[in-house]
Amino acid sequence: MRAVREMTSGSPTGAASTLDVAALRRDFPILQTTVHGKPLVYLDNAATSQKPQAVLDTLSRYYAETNANVHRGLYQLSEASTRAYAEARLRVKNFIHARLKCEIIFTRGTTEGINLVAQTYGRQHVKAGDEILITHMEHHSNIVPWQVLCEEKGARLRVVPVTDAGELDLEAFQRMLSDRTRLAAVTYVSNALGTVNPVKELVAMAHARGVPVLVDGAQAVPHLAIDVLDLGCDFFVFSGHKMFGPTGIGVLYGRAELLEEMPPYQTGGDMILSVRFDKTIFNSLPHKFEAGTPDIAGAIGLGAAIDYLNHVGLDRIASHEAELLRYGTELLHSIDGVRILGNAAHKASVLSFVMDAAHPHDIGQMLDSEGIAIRAGHHCAQPLMERFDVPATARASLAFYNTREELDALGKALERVHEVFG
Ligand code: PLP
Repeated sequence: MRAVREMTSGSPTGAASTLDVAALRRDFPILQTTVHGKPLVYLDNAATSQKPQAVLDTLSRYYAETNANVHRGLYQLSEASTRAYAEARLRVKNFIHARLKCEIIFTRGTTEGINLVAQTYGRQHVKAGDEILITHMEHHSNIVPWQVLCEEKGARLRVVPVTDAGELDLEAFQRMLSDRTRLAAVTYVSNALGTVNPVKELVAMAHARGVPVLVDGAQAVPHLAIDVLDLGCDFFVFSGHKMFGPTGIGVLYGRAELLEEMPPYQTGGDMILSVRFDKTIFNSLPHKFEAGTPDIAGAIGLGAAIDYLNHVGLDRIASHEAELLRYGTELLHSIDGVRILGNAAHKASVLSFVMDAAHPHDIGQMLDSEGIAIRAGHHCAQPLMERFDVPATARASLAFYNTREELDALGKALERVHEVFG
C-alpha cells in the first residue's frame, strides 16, 4: 500500500491547522479536468466522492503485482493477496474503532449491509405485531428492506417525524420506542438535508428500552470521525465510494455477540467450514457473511482511502467543511428566490435548495453547462420530499477538496438561472 509520506501533504503543522486545499486537489486527477470547456466544479459528493491518486495506484498495483484469490492458495501470490485483504479489514476496524476484526464484514455497500441485517437478524427476531422504528429522513435503502421485512412478517414500520428545520423529533423517537420495537434503524447524516443526528443519544434511548440500533453511516464517514464503541450502536453500515474509496465495496460492522447468533445471508464458497450433502458447517466470523470471492481489490482500495483520510485528518476536514457550509449557506441566502431545505443546528456540508423560478432539473442542467456538477431529484428520499412538499431539490454536497471559489461559481450560475427563468 502506498506510504502516507508519498502523498501530497495537507498542512503538516498539526490537527488544528487549516488544510492546504490547493495541494490536496492535485491528489485528485479528475479535479484537473474540464467539462464543456470549463473547469470541473464537482459538488455531488453525497452521491459519490472522487478518488485520490493513492487509491487509484493501490488498485492498479494490486492487479499488476498481487492479484490472486484469497484464502485458498498455498503459493506466494495468494498469501500476499490474503494478507493485504486481512490488512484492509484491520484498517477498517481501526478507522471505526471496533473491538474486533471479525466484527467487520465486507459488503458491496451500505444497501447490502442493511439488507443483510434485515434478512438475517430481522427475519430471526421480527414477528407478527412487532415494530421496526425508522425516521422520516432515511434514504430508500434504510426504508425498503424494513418495509419488505414488515410485510413478510406482519410487523409494523413506524416512522419518527422530522421538524420543519429538518431535525429529528427526539421526543417522538423516545415515545415511539415500545416493548414491541425489535430494532431502530437511523441515519447518522441525512443525504438530502445534511442533518447530523445525535446518534449516541438515540442509541442510549433505544438501549434503555432493550432495542438494538442500526446506524446508516453512509454520509457520516467522509465527514466525521467514527467510534462505534462510543456511539454504542449494534450495527453500523457504510460505503467505500462515498469516502474516496472504490465503488462496489462497503462495510457492515456488527457486535460479535449479535453476528455470532445470526444465520448466514448468502451461502456458497468461503462461508463454510465443511460441506457434505447431508450437512454443511458454516465458517466463523467474519467469513460466515462473505460468501464467494470477495471484492479483494475494492477492500484493499478502501484501506488506501482510509490511510488517505487519516493523512488529511478528519478534524481538519471538519473545520474546513464547516467554513464552506457557512459560506455556502450565506451565499444561497443572498440569491433571490432560493430556499434552503434543512436548517438543522448540526449539519454536514450539504446544501439542498429549491428556487421559485426553476425546477431542480432545469437548475442542474444549466449548472452542468457551466461545468458544475450538482444533483437534482428526490435523492432516494421520496418520503422526505413529500414531508417538505417538494417533488425534488437541487443539492450541492461538499467535500474537503471543495473551495470558496467553487461556491462563488455556483452562486454566479444560480444568479444566471434566476435571470433566465425568473
Ligand atoms: N444511506 C444513505 C444516507 C445514502 O446517502 C446512501 C447513498 O446515497 C445510501 C444509504 C446507499 O448507499 P449505496 O448506494 O452506496 O449502497
